[in-house]
Amino acid sequence: MKFNTKTIHGGQEHDPAYGAVMPPIYQTSTYAQSTPGGHKGFEYSRTHNPTRKALENAFASIENGKYGLAFGSGLAAIDAVIKLLKPGDEVISTNDLYGGTYRLFTKIFEDFGIKFHFIGMENADKVATFITKNTKLIWVETPTNPMMNIIDIKAIAEISKKNNILLAVDNTFATPYLQRPLDLGADIVMHSATKYIGGHSDLVMGALIVKDEKIAERLYFIQNASGAVCGPQDSFLALRGIKTLHVRMQRHCENGKAIAMYLKTHPKIEKVYWPGFEEHPNHQIAKSQMDDFGGMISFITKGSDYNSAIKIIENLKIFTLAESLGGVESLAGHPASMTHASIPKEEREKTGVVDALIRLSVGIEDVDDLIADLKQAIG
Ligand SMILES: *Cc1c(COP(=O)(O)O)cnc(C)c1O
Repeated sequence: MKFNTKTIHGGQEHDPAYGAVMPPIYQTSTYAQSTPGGHKGFEYSRTHNPTRKALENAFASIENGKYGLAFGSGLAAIDAVIKLLKPGDEVISTNDLYGGTYRLFTKIFEDFGIKFHFIGMENADKVATFITKNTKLIWVETPTNPMMNIIDIKAIAEISKKNNILLAVDNTFATPYLQRPLDLGADIVMHSATKYIGGHSDLVMGALIVKDEKIAERLYFIQNASGAVCGPQDSFLALRGIKTLHVRMQRHCENGKAIAMYLKTHPKIEKVYWPGFEEHPNHQIAKSQMDDFGGMISFITKGSDYNSAIKIIENLKIFTLAESLGGVESLAGHPASMTHASIPKEEREKTGVVDALIRLSVGIEDVDDLIADLKQAIG
């Protein structure tokens, strides 16, 4: 099955009860048993739920994995991955990453004795220099949020395999429409399904996808034991979102490209961050590991500071000032005070997240309207 067919049919069966084409929302916590243990594969909805199962199968299918797991949020999914580790273990992570991930690593898991190294991974060889005998996990986000750096998944996977270290990739920005990390050698793919997978800004959810049975077993154990699962209603919405992922992504990419090109030629713009530009430092890697360049763009206007950046965002009328990304509607954000406020200023600025930086999640509206909106807001 090819990708566009998988988004609609991958891992799906018509409901056995009445042949419902869409999986019913099994709004139940428990399941009748004829005798203790005499059930139809479902006992309790923290462990299993048929609607969530249908979604988990869809996750596995679109990422070319074998096993999918759905969680109550993207961070809950990351939390489950780190729980594969033990005190004393070390993690090498991208330094330019989602603020909430950084907060989870440094403010929760460091207290449990796990050590994190945050490094720039644009040059994959650098990763090898941080490996010790305690390194158990490499955590990669690519494209990075919000600087749109590109990390060579295949090159990092070679290093992780050679050293017997797990490689997890946060694929939230790219989605499997653009990039399939398991095919490139990663062990675990993670999503904030809140974003492009759900696609309509109407749910919060996380996903993990793996190929290896042993890792899957351990993650299912953690999912059930820690209990950060999503409910059947949200599972249904995410499944519905997945069915249009390919058509939405196609338009996100088209609109993203048009806006990146527009901003680049605008006389008031200092710098545009988008991996589709040939002069992007890792454009060649982006081209080889992604099928297109996505709808996320960051930019800085000339001579701008905190106040002028905020003014531009406030001037926007079609782009909504809001956290999050990946919905059908266009959003604009100010990373330094919003998504990345949990990263200390000096850490943040080292990776380029300055007060003047604006991040756009380009939606699927008519691109002429989006460009006109940016034009009036930038002036
Ligand atoms: C939003 C986001 C997360 C966290 O996901 P939630 O669903 O908000 O918990 C993790 N990684 C990236 C890249 C994100 O954009």
